[in-house]
Amino acid sequence: MGRVFVAGSINMDVVATADRHPRVGETVAGKQVLYFPGGKGANQAVAASRLGAKTTLIGRLGTDSFGAELRTFLNAQGIDPGSIKETPETHTGTAIITVAASDNTIVVIPGSNALVSADDVADAPLAKGDVAVSQFEIPLPTIAAFFQRAHTAGATTVLNPAPAQKMSPELLALVDILVLNETELGFLAGTELTDDDETAKIIAVARKLQAREDQTICVTLGKRGVLALASSEEFSVPGRVVKAIDTTGAGDCFVGALASQLADGVPLRAALAFANAAASISVQRMGAGPSMPTAAEVAAIL
Ligand code: ATP
Repeated sequence: MGRVFVAGSINMDVVATADRHPRVGETVAGKQVLYFPGGKGANQAVAASRLGAKTTLIGRLGTDSFGAELRTFLNAQGIDPGSIKETPETHTGTAIITVAASDNTIVVIPGSNALVSADDVADAPLAKGDVAVSQFEIPLPTIAAFFQRAHTAGATTVLNPAPAQKMSPELLALVDILVLNETELGFLAGTELTDDDETAKIIAVARKLQAREDQTICVTLGKRGVLALASSEEFSVPGRVVKAIDTTGAGDCFVGALASQLADGVPLRAALAFANAAASISVQRMGAGPSMPTAAEVAAIL
């Protein structure tokens, strides 16, 4: 069985709840403040680890109290913490989220995540059969160095290009499996896509983005499931019908679950069905990290 290596962000999400958002220059009394471990890298590593994959997270934390709390949390999830470095020169990545009624506003300050460097990934002990996962909350040159190293070692690379930003053709060509939602696909391909677009249109846009003939593109479609384009085939895994209460982190659960299966040698189609089932469990629970299911919970509904 291979390992999952995630190079990515680790954040503390500080959530303030209030009856309404303040207007510019105004102060309102809030109701509660909550602290949640977050960041796409950490969320995806938590999902993979909880599903039974041996998981290493490569990232950076500040030497502040959020950093200490996040390290304790990640250790408790069974994630190998050896590759998480400390950055005394800046604070731990933090997201300040205000929730009022059903709307939220978010300010993310990358802090230590912006300092994850090519040197940090240079020693990752990747081997054949491992899966290297990343997202766009750490510097893109670091991701390119990580994926280059993964290819040299014979590992599979999985990129979740979120939040969307432009990437170089060289980085895209280093990706074996691209996992993205419709909005990210539209952004990267330069074509606007909406939630209701027909499968044929999504496939055409994804084919336009495909950088190599043997590159797989998986487009997550929320409750509609996932659409996959592999070298010689296209197929869908329909969404599972569930009562969603909080879709935060559904994409992260999907990516972590997919990586856990690929590291276990599971073929793509079955790995996607597993990830789709895992993510459908996560949307029935509140939060990102805390909503990630275990392998037994996924097995029970497959
Ligand atoms: P987010 O940014 O909220 O984490 P995302 O936009 O990256 O999510 P989505 O396409 O919304 O990703 O969801 C990822 C996967 O989660 C879907 O492919 C599907 O497997 C599952 N999923 C999401 N929403 C639902 C839902 N309402 N019912 C069932 N499964 C869902």
